[in-house]
Parts: sequence; C-alpha cells; structure tokens
Amino acid sequence: MVYTSRTEEIMGLDALLTADEIAWRDKARTFSLERIQPQIDEDFEIQRLREELIPELGELGMLGMHINGYGCSGANAVSYGLVCYELEAVDTSWRTHVSVLGSLAMSSIAKFGSEEQKQEWLPAMARGEKAGCFGLTEPHGGSDPSNMKTTAVLDGDEWVINGAKRWIGIANIADVAIIWAQTDDAVRGFIVPTSTPGYVATPIAGKLSMRASIQCAIELTNVRIPKENMLPLAKGLGAPFKCLTEARYGIIWGVMGAARAVMDVAIERSQTREVFGKPIGAMQITQAKLADAFLEYEKGMLLSLHIGHMKDAGTLKHEQVSVGKLNNVREAIGIVSSMRSIMGGDGVTNEFPMMRHMMNLESVRTYEGTDEVHALVVGRALTGIEAFR
Ligand SMILES: Cc1cc2nc3c(=O)[nH]c(=O)nc-3n(C[C@H](O)[C@H](O)[C@H](O)COP(=O)(O)OP(=O)(O)OC[C@H]3O[C@@H](n4cnc5c(N)ncnc54)[C@H](O)[C@@H]3O)c2cc1C
Repeated sequence: MVYTSRTEEIMGLDALLTADEIAWRDKARTFSLERIQPQIDEDFEIQRLREELIPELGELGMLGMHINGYGCSGANAVSYGLVCYELEAVDTSWRTHVSVLGSLAMSSIAKFGSEEQKQEWLPAMARGEKAGCFGLTEPHGGSDPSNMKTTAVLDGDEWVINGAKRWIGIANIADVAIIWAQTDDAVRGFIVPTSTPGYVATPIAGKLSMRASIQCAIELTNVRIPKENMLPLAKGLGAPFKCLTEARYGIIWGVMGAARAVMDVAIERSQTREVFGKPIGAMQITQAKLADAFLEYEKGMLLSLHIGHMKDAGTLKHEQVSVGKLNNVREAIGIVSSMRSIMGGDGVTNEFPMMRHMMNLESVRTYEGTDEVHALVVGRALTGIEAFR
C-alpha cells in the first residue's frame, strides 16, 4: 500500500475490521489513487465525467456490490462503506457514481423488480456495461417527494409517462432510468430505457460542486414503455425511500474519506510550513485545530462502523441512517473548512484538494435529504411528533 494515513494509524480502525473488509478497502484505495487521483483536478476544472472508469469499477466488483446474485459481489455493508470511504477520499463524484449506479438504480431493480427484470438488467449493470440513473426529485421541491407531479397512465399495454425530473445523476449517459411517477393508485417505479422517444436529459450548467460528475434535468413527454416495465413490488414512496436509505448509508462513510484526505494534507503542511521561525504545527492553535478535527473524524468513523454493523445484522433503522448522514456530513464540512485555514492562502488554490472537497460536500449536504430534513427525522424519532409541515 503506497498511501498511509497518520490519522488512520492513530485511530487503529483496522483492529475492528475483518480481513475481507480490509481487502475491499485496499482495493478501492488503490483504484482511487491510481485511476481517479491523477486526473481529478483537471476533471473538476473542465467538468469531465470519465465514463471509461465505470466498467473498471464493474470489473472490481464495486457496482451493486452489496447485492446478492445476478453477478453482484454480495459484500457486506461495512465493505461497501469502506469502498465509499476510499472513493470519496479522492473525490465525491466517484463515490456518488457508485452510489447512483449501485445503491439507487440497481437496488431499485434488486429490491422491487421481477425475476425477468433482474435477469435482464442487473448482471450487465454489475459489469458496468449498462448504466442506470434514479429519477425521483422534481423541479418544484426535492424535499417533499409526496408532491409528485410526474404521472404514469396505463394505455392498453403501455404506460405513458409525463413530467419532469431535476438533479438526476448521469441521466444523460445512462442506458436506463428508474423513474418514479404517480399512478392512479400510488407512486410507482418504472424502468425507462433512455432511448425511448420523449425522454430528454439535459446536463445542468453552472454547477460549482461535484464537477467530475453530471446531473441533469429530465423532460418526459409521452414516454411510452411496455406494461411489464413497472417494478411490480414498488408501491408507494416507501420504495424509493428504501433505496435512498441504501445510498445515504454510503454517504456516512464517504464523507469521512474526504475528511481524512484533507487532514492528512494539513498535517503534512503543519510539519513543513514555517512561519515566525517555526513550523505552524508547533503552534498550539494549529495543534488544537488538528486535534479537534481528528476527534470528529474518529467519532464519525466509529459511528459509520456501528451503523454498518447494524446494517449487516439487519437491524438498522432509517432514523439511525439520518443520524449518521446528518452528523458525518456536518462534521466533514467543519473539518474541511478548518483544514483549509491551516493551508493559508495556498489552501484556496487547486494545488490542494480542500476547496474541491468543500464545494463537493455542499452537494452532499443537500442531496439524499438535506440536513434540515434529517434533523426533522431525528427529531420525530426523539419526540414522536412530526414537524415537516
Ligand atoms: C449534486 C446533486 C445530485 C443529485 N442527484 C440526484 C439523483 O441522482 N436523483 C434524484 O432524484 N435527486 C438527486 N438530487 C436532488 C436532491 O435530492 C435534492 O436537491 C434535495 O432533495 C433537495 O431538494 P431541492 O434541491 O429541491 O431543495 P428544496 O426541497 O427546495 O429545499 C430548499 C431548502 O428548504 C429546506 N426545507 C425543505 N423542507 C423543509 C422542512 N419541512 N423544514 C425545514 N426546512 C425545509 C431544505 O432543507 C433546504 O434547505 C441531487 C442533488 C444534487 C445537488
């Protein structure tokens, strides 16, 4: 392993991981450092998604890796979390791609699809030959999907879908979109091949965050798909929410990767940068900043592992995932900001990864449920009172 982290050494997490989990982490670390890191600043700068990496992730078994069968790896939740941790240590975009492809698109089919749908899509998606996206959010307010305006109406042997989606990751390169739409009985999920006439995905311009990925606005105009393309077991919003819980789980680990990456850079800088005749790391305020960041990182990692163990045991509740997402994203943002300050002026340049991570984490704070929404979920669990409306 070429990369060793001072923060990891002090934390000693390996003692709590199995050999299999460590192997997944190391595989993801090598991939991230060798295949993403060398070009990530340029990708971010010119807003480039390197599609060619998707089949490579498939070859490594990292797409839908927590799904059993259908060519998927069937890894445990902690291993999946560690993969997210390593990808996001380099850049949020790539953890997000794995999340959209595996936790959202593939999970929708794996959890709610028919046997034929699973056979048709999952093996090819696991190999990275086919890419999927997940269209839930609509332009008028993503925090409240119950106000869904996209409709699907049965017309003979076909569903006809009309509406609009916004912020849908990789919708312009995906082969298939899982589109959530209101029918006359409930919200349902539909497998929509993106080549279907009436499906138009347009990348959202001017995005200053996660620039190595693409999110799109989707227009759905009289999109006709066969009756069999409805996910038979998905009825009501509980279905997409279950997929979101999978994806949020990956975020809990991922953002701690970003935190680790910036801490390691700041520690190195604190040892080598001399101001007032001594290293800035010899100043107590710098050490206090590093120590505070390390405490939150260590707590965030232990929380991730605890949540991972509950997921593996099958006892994890969605409000526990909200605790992890709210806490770890909030603390990662705090850590990146504090580590950026240790870098001084150089910290606002792209010579160092701080600003890229900072901008990326603003998206993570918002998607898969904003921090306000997760606070309301935790508040409801604590009080028994719903405060959304
Ligand atoms: C980079 C990126 C990638 C994304 N990828 C996907 C994807 O692949 N698929 C997909 O379906 N969606 C995706 N999303 C959409 C994302 O999930 C939504 O942006 C998110 O749910 C928030 O919705 P909104 O942006 O419409 O904000 P709004 O819902 O308009 O919220 C605006 C503000 O109001 C606050 N607010 C809303 N309701 C309440 C309340 N009851 N109490 C207190 N405060 C409240 C919010 O917390 C927020 O601060 C992505 C978004 C981004 C930025």
